[in-house]
Amino acid sequence: MKVFNLSCDVDHTFEGWFSSAAEFGRQLEAHLLRCPVCDSTEVRRLPAATRLNLGAPTELAARSQPAAALADVIDVLIANSEDVGEQFAEEARRIHYLETKARSIRGIATVEERAQLAEEGIDVLTLPIATASKRTLQ
Ligand SMILES: [Zn+2]
Repeated sequence: MKVFNLSCDVDHTFEGWFSSAAEFGRQLEAHLLRCPVCDSTEVRRLPAATRLNLGAPTELAARSQPAAALADVIDVLIANSEDVGEQFAEEARRIHYLETKARSIRGIATVEERAQLAEEGIDVLTLPIATASKRTLQ
């Protein structure tokens, strides 16, 4: 089951549940999706929450509510990933090219390393946590 965040042409947002992404596409093309508020069939998909760019720590501090929720997300991510420290970019690349066991990792990457990973199509989530700012100060 896929849950997509949807929006109509006047920005009412709502959730849609689909058996698959393909099923969502089929219903969208057939104009079967309707806004529950205004009945518009001009529906589009919003970016999923997990794909959000979390931004810099300074932006985050200005929004206390999302920051609290983000802290919980970070706790879960840290509890369920292996700390590979400065080897992060190298390890992410090895996982991507199936040279090592697939798993969740966390660590430190420079801006350049992150850009290189992105160019190779390797998705990396950047989190504004203490280790990141420590690196910047060095
Ligand atoms: Zn609407």
